[in-house]
Amino acid sequence: MSTVTRERKAQHALPELPYALDALEPRISAETLQFHHGKHHRDYVTKLNELIQDTEFAELPLEEIVRRSSGPVFNNAAQAWNHAFYWQCLAPAKGRRRPSTTLAKAIDTRFGSLDAFKDRFTQVAVETFGSGWTWLVLERDGSISVGSTSNAGTPIRTHGAPLLTCDVWEHAYYIDYRNERLKYVEAFWELANWDFVNRNYEAAL
Ligand code: FE
Repeated sequence: MSTVTRERKAQHALPELPYALDALEPRISAETLQFHHGKHHRDYVTKLNELIQDTEFAELPLEEIVRRSSGPVFNNAAQAWNHAFYWQCLAPAKGRRRPSTTLAKAIDTRFGSLDAFKDRFTQVAVETFGSGWTWLVLERDGSISVGSTSNAGTPIRTHGAPLLTCDVWEHAYYIDYRNERLKYVEAFWELANWDFVNRNYEAAL
């Protein structure tokens, strides 16, 4: 590493996981989190910092870069943002809770029941072709919906607000579940951090 590189302050840092590496076991292993957070997510942040040096994006907050960029800058910025959001969508047992009364009502209105919502989200996650993300979002008209984005796609510049996401890139589940994405998504529901989803919904309303 050259002196110049070492002295340049990185604009974006890899956020720490909000729990211990083994906190989601056995559903998501410490080894998966080591690779997913410690290598994949870290690489997006490192690459982003390299790409934005001396550009119009150098001083911008991450979310602004996602909103304004395209190409490699967008890909790395959006992946950095999506992963930071995803970690918070998961929680060890005592952090999980349930949908709030207001969110439960919105889910019932849109999907019929919490189970029907989970079935729909799971179906979209399993059917997402290749690498991507499945989302519960608050639309700009105030309704909620489920959809997926490909690769680094993110709803933060096209929708009202993301409420919940599941990373369906193979790197999220291949160590634990090999090619069985459905088993991973079923495990995801055992880890879903409804406290976080509730807060996102309240903040976005
Ligand atoms: Fe990922």
